[in-house]
Amino acid sequence: MIPYGKHSVDQADIDAVVDVLKNQFLTQGQQVPAFESALANYCGAGFATAVNSGTSALHIACMALGLGQGDWLWTSPISFVASSNCALYCGAQVDFVDIDPVTRNICVEQLASKLATAERRPKVLVAVHFAGSSCDMQAIKTLCERYDVAVIEDASHGLGGDYQQGKIGCSQFSDMTVLSFHPVKSITSAEGGAVLTNDAQLYMRCQLASKHGITRDQQLMHGESEGDWYYQQIVLGYNYRLSDLHAALGISQLSKLDNFIQRRRQLAARYHQKLNHLPLTLPQPDEQSAWHIYVIEVEADKRKAAFDALRQAGIGVNVHYIPIHLQPFYRQLGFQAGDFPRAEHFYAGAITLPLYADLTEAEQDKVVETLQRVLA
Ligand SMILES: *Cc1c(COP(=O)(O)O)cnc(C)c1O
Repeated sequence: MIPYGKHSVDQADIDAVVDVLKNQFLTQGQQVPAFESALANYCGAGFATAVNSGTSALHIACMALGLGQGDWLWTSPISFVASSNCALYCGAQVDFVDIDPVTRNICVEQLASKLATAERRPKVLVAVHFAGSSCDMQAIKTLCERYDVAVIEDASHGLGGDYQQGKIGCSQFSDMTVLSFHPVKSITSAEGGAVLTNDAQLYMRCQLASKHGITRDQQLMHGESEGDWYYQQIVLGYNYRLSDLHAALGISQLSKLDNFIQRRRQLAARYHQKLNHLPLTLPQPDEQSAWHIYVIEVEADKRKAAFDALRQAGIGVNVHYIPIHLQPFYRQLGFQAGDFPRAEHFYAGAITLPLYADLTEAEQDKVVETLQRVLA
């Protein structure tokens, strides 16, 4: 089976992890701070907090913004459930803004009209860079500033991609950017995530939230330190730490990120060229995208048969995403079919084709040929 996504791990990655195993620290050593600086440096952001998943990163980003009971978070229904679950962890409520059918990202016009007319405006917007293609962050920032809405970029798909003159993650047009290092993402630490920001205060809150709310910084303490052993818990936090093993893998992977993205971009362009004449809706070409996934749309009534036939032929297709508001858990909160029609229409025809750095042209040709046969 050719999978839809796959990590690319080489001997240097393996050596980096084995080295840590021979060291004094398996966790809370020097690898995590080194990974954090490398990430901040790569993306062009001031600070990075590495944590044990992208989901944890979303949670602490919301905590850092003070999201809580009575607050709302808005995001796109075409994302992984973590993009909205983070609000519920904080006791806040969730609403969605429908997508732009061309970019498949949150629709800026719909966001504008919803902000203009909403009874309760959100405290936080999570802008998801679907498939690795950046949202229109400049327009989103302008809008959100007008209504005093904080912006978190969910760049779980976007690491290594570009937006305007900067890297995705530089957080020029947002308060924070969240990354994921799950094995199907741009780089992997097996499990892992990070929050990037240029705001020292938000960074400090992310650090606290991910480490039990504990500090050893005298300036943050209530009263005097009682000695070198002393620490204080000043807020309620979690243990969301990344281990040094994971961070070492992340550092080693990051050094190859540009090559991975270059390869993903080549393969995406090659899909475009080979599929252009078929009765399909293709993703919009985007040379700045990190190309996390390549999602085509077929007629809704042909999707299941096409999906099954591709799987039968050994092509590990997938579907990204089932709209979050249609999940049973979210229906219990009051959402229903018809709430976000463009997202639902997109989902009905979506098929994710294999795309990852190690995919060969021969494998990609097999995907294309099988798809041609299936659609004929
Ligand atoms: C993968 C992903 C996440 C969650 O990341 P984990 O590291 O798996 O917790 C969040 N949002 C989006 C859009 C993702 O693709």
